Amino acid sequence: MTPPEQQESLDPADWDEMRSLGHRMVDDAIAYLIGVRERPAWQAVPEETRALFRTPAPEAPSGAAAAYRDFVQNVLPYPTGNVHPRFWGWYMGNGTVLGALADFLASVMNSNLGGGSHAANLVEEQVVNWMKDIIGLPQESSGLLVSGGSMANFVGLAVARNAKAGFDVRELGLQAAGGQLIVYASSEVHSSVQKGIELLGMGNRSLRKVPVKGNYTIDLTALEAAIGADRQAGRQPVCVVGNAGSINTGAIDDLVGLADICKRHRLWFHIDGAIGAVAMLAPSIRPLLAGIERADSVGLDLHKWMHMPFEAGCILVRDEEAHRKTFSLTPEYLARETRGLAAGAPWFSDYGLQLSREFRALKVWMSIKEHGLARFGRMIERNVAQARHFGRLVEEAPDLELMAPIGLDIVCFRFHPGGLADAALDALNKEILMRLHEGGIAVPSYTTLNGRYCLRIAIANHRSTIEDFELLAREVRRIGRELAR
Ligand SMILES: *Cc1c(COP(=O)(O)O)cnc(C)c1O
Repeated sequence: MTPPEQQESLDPADWDEMRSLGHRMVDDAIAYLIGVRERPAWQAVPEETRALFRTPAPEAPSGAAAAYRDFVQNVLPYPTGNVHPRFWGWYMGNGTVLGALADFLASVMNSNLGGGSHAANLVEEQVVNWMKDIIGLPQESSGLLVSGGSMANFVGLAVARNAKAGFDVRELGLQAAGGQLIVYASSEVHSSVQKGIELLGMGNRSLRKVPVKGNYTIDLTALEAAIGADRQAGRQPVCVVGNAGSINTGAIDDLVGLADICKRHRLWFHIDGAIGAVAMLAPSIRPLLAGIERADSVGLDLHKWMHMPFEAGCILVRDEEAHRKTFSLTPEYLARETRGLAAGAPWFSDYGLQLSREFRALKVWMSIKEHGLARFGRMIERNVAQARHFGRLVEEAPDLELMAPIGLDIVCFRFHPGGLADAALDALNKEILMRLHEGGIAVPSYTTLNGRYCLRIAIANHRSTIEDFELLAREVRRIGRELAR
């Protein structure tokens, strides 16, 4: 007989109890999502609830049911809000119900996708291959799922740097560079590209922020001039980053023009497609993305416009060897076999920073099977139509002002009753935004364009209806008039 203390594990003492708790969790979760529209788009965590998050970790057990009760009372009521039909802040997706259930199943299997011969790796390989088809990169390309667009850009830039440096960066470090390595992007480039360049040791001064045109796409003439000037000065251009959907306005750079320039100057062509790359699924938008298939690397976000529960992004790299050479490192304890669990290919840990990796591919794989790609494309097209519709509401209202051309699904606007200077308008619109959030009415975010504060909606939302946008226009004007009085 094993003594009782030797029988202890982290499994439930009573499996039946855990089963019924699990059933209740699923029932509650479904009810929560059915009722999402009835709740505020956002609400602040009250101070007495915040205090509960400052207590030390318990030494003694309180049990699964109590832990769940704590979650239902103190965590669940205060989400970011991006599950709500009137959440259009920053750039987030809604999630899918099956995606959430798949995350649960992935945790049940608790597979490690660093490598090895097991089915989860095959699922990720298939999902990555589907992404190659969607973007139009050859099947011989490599890729892996990552946490999101930031990590996708980081991986793409790391391969770009190592492939184009002209010396062995892994062995020698950037000290060996003859001239400063330079990366180009438009002034609308996302902060994650800058962070990536900083962390890759290239320094922020190596990022050239090239001016944009009136539609917020990169000025190709200015780009070529900058490349020429850097070469003249003995610096070493390595990479151009194109925007496939910029964060401020959703602008898509001239990707064909960028591909031509990269070819002419033998530069790595990376595309930040965190917003727009998956719009390849939408037949009416696909032509705007022409040239994406010529990129050396493309970063995509699946937790944005494809609505996967966080976190899910993807990086694709045309040159598999360059990708593997940047990240692969195989000490004895990770040596590969041809049979058994240590066999199998690819080992995803050869293509990114992480060794242990979660099974994020399952939610993507199951959601794509559930809905089919065409439906994802239709959801994207509907959001673009909604952005245009909201743009018309703004233009028709005498006291609303459109602040930038609408790129894809992002609209920048402000309340402008007339007779107010920019500083007063900035303050007025900031207050409108606070009241929209705090009233739980809707969640736009904000940005600054040409020095002027704007409200900004980024519509990656499969739950929004036309009425939601009519309500937003109405409420902005109502609050604005109240404040202006
Ligand atoms: C959101 C975003 C990113 C960063 O993606 P995360 O998934 O948040 O890491 C990068 N580029 C653009 C254009 C984005 O919109």
